[in-house]
Amino acid sequence: MHIVGRFAPSPSGRMHLGNILCAMLGYLSAKSKGGDYILRIEDLDNIRCTKENSKQVLDDLDWFGIKFDNINFIKTDIINNKSIYQSERTDVYKHFEQILQDKGLVYPCFCTRAELHTASAPHLSDGRVIYTGTCKNLTADDIKSKTRKPAMRVAVPDIKISFIDGVKGKYTEDLTSECGDFIIKRSDGVYAYQLAVTVDDALMGVNEVVRGHDLIGSTARQIWLHELFGFTPPKFYHMPLLVAPDGRRLSKRDKDLDLGIIRQHMKPQRLIGILAYTCGLIDKKEDISLYELIKTFSWDKIPNRDLILPEL
Ligand code: GLU
Repeated sequence: MHIVGRFAPSPSGRMHLGNILCAMLGYLSAKSKGGDYILRIEDLDNIRCTKENSKQVLDDLDWFGIKFDNINFIKTDIINNKSIYQSERTDVYKHFEQILQDKGLVYPCFCTRAELHTASAPHLSDGRVIYTGTCKNLTADDIKSKTRKPAMRVAVPDIKISFIDGVKGKYTEDLTSECGDFIIKRSDGVYAYQLAVTVDDALMGVNEVVRGHDLIGSTARQIWLHELFGFTPPKFYHMPLLVAPDGRRLSKRDKDLDLGIIRQHMKPQRLIGILAYTCGLIDKKEDISLYELIKTFSWDKIPNRDLILPEL
């Protein structure tokens, strides 16, 4: 099978080292199998995800040495003219929302954020709120009487979804008790991550998804959507998270570990070496190229636990 992997950053700020490690492992995984690696910009949140941030993400990836197979060397020129910006793909998501509508699975939800929290089951450990179905059985009159714009929710069946994660092994989630009916379109009309990511992965031919372990809780919902639309779900690799030398989780707020600062005092080869060493791909901290790493890359070398970044 010809592998197509992808990197799907949300340009809500400068990338940090965890983001670039994700891009690196996804790239190495696809390239070590002779596959393609494509880019998609997940900029649906149009307040935080600006065009300037997207440009900066592209520039950082280019500096790091990752070349994408769906982008010409002129960075914004997209082969086959299909946008890689989710903000420009609304019609595509609309089409798939309609498919769910036609199956009778979508209902409007008028709950406010506060109502969602008070009416919800206890939070799961990842902060997710299970929707209790307040708006599931509204009558046409109930709906007519509402004044606020609804979000759209999809009703999940009472089934368990299992998959074999390339890093974590077997993972199972019960759609009703662990996910609940979830939002596919926000009340402001913006399509939600779960729908957009599923549709895009499928339409862009992605069959290998490498992303942070913190997203594993979304995978059952995405597999369910893939199957509902008649797609074959990709193989998932949920990579361990990179934590700072003092143990804190990296976030875009930690400016000290973002690419802006790193690029001021480091060459890409050195950063690639540090990241490769941190996740067990090489035995000592030394400068290395992505090209060298492709030859020996194997998921067997990546540990199934948090990766502690050495002092830079
Ligand atoms: N856009 C998401 C992020 O940057 C990643 C989504 C995914 O890999 O499925 O966190």
